[in-house]
Amino acid sequence: MTRRRIIAGNWKMNTDRDEAVALAKAVADATAAFAADVDVVVIPPATLIAPVVDALGDSHVAVGAQNMHPEVRGAYTGELAGPMLTSVGCGYVVCGHSERRQLFGETSEFVGAKVAAAHRFGLIPILCVGETLEEREAGQTEAIVADQLKRGIDGLSKEQLAETIVAYEPVWAIGTGRTATPEQAQAVHAHLRGILKQRAGAEVAEAVRIQYGGSVNPSNAAELLGAPDIDGALVGGASLKAETFASIVGA
Ligand code: PEP
Repeated sequence: MTRRRIIAGNWKMNTDRDEAVALAKAVADATAAFAADVDVVVIPPATLIAPVVDALGDSHVAVGAQNMHPEVRGAYTGELAGPMLTSVGCGYVVCGHSERRQLFGETSEFVGAKVAAAHRFGLIPILCVGETLEEREAGQTEAIVADQLKRGIDGLSKEQLAETIVAYEPVWAIGTGRTATPEQAQAVHAHLRGILKQRAGAEVAEAVRIQYGGSVNPSNAAELLGAPDIDGALVGGASLKAETFASIVGA
């Protein structure tokens, strides 16, 4: 099966309104030539989702959120619910980014609740999994990502699972300039796909798109994206410049 590639740019806590609007427009222009072949997503800070959606108009670039709460409304000060995101044109949501897990104490169960809620509210979740350097050095990579994946997709139907995007992001490669080799990344991606196959069968496992994330840049993107089970990239730092991001999309 050919899986359509998906490149997403996680802007994290960067850009103000004017910068976000300008960056989104520049990304749309710079990636237009690849629109037929690749899904392109930008993921601005939450308050800038609506202006970015407006700025993008009917372009090929979709917009995602960096986080959401699984509940639909209530006393959760500071949180955002799925329908608040869809109501402003947001189509994707990152669930369980390692920064959320590490800095804000998100557990895999909580991340799984977000993934399920995303589907309930019509958002496509990007479920992040990844091991720390200590875990890799202790030979625990496969066990850690397997556990994060299984808890992250708990309770999903096969249809929901097929539409879930998984992002393998080794924590030691995020924002460090240190990238997994294509062989290292491919091995983990194949392992993740194997777990999906056990859980939901070959057809679903073959449909799920698995992105790699961790210091992806224009010089390493083509090699990483050439691996058979790497279906796209979740890009942090290199997504803040339209030309750099566009050359990753081009790769
Ligand atoms: C990320 O934050 O998801 C990420 C991969 O960041 P960077 O590309 O900067 O390593």
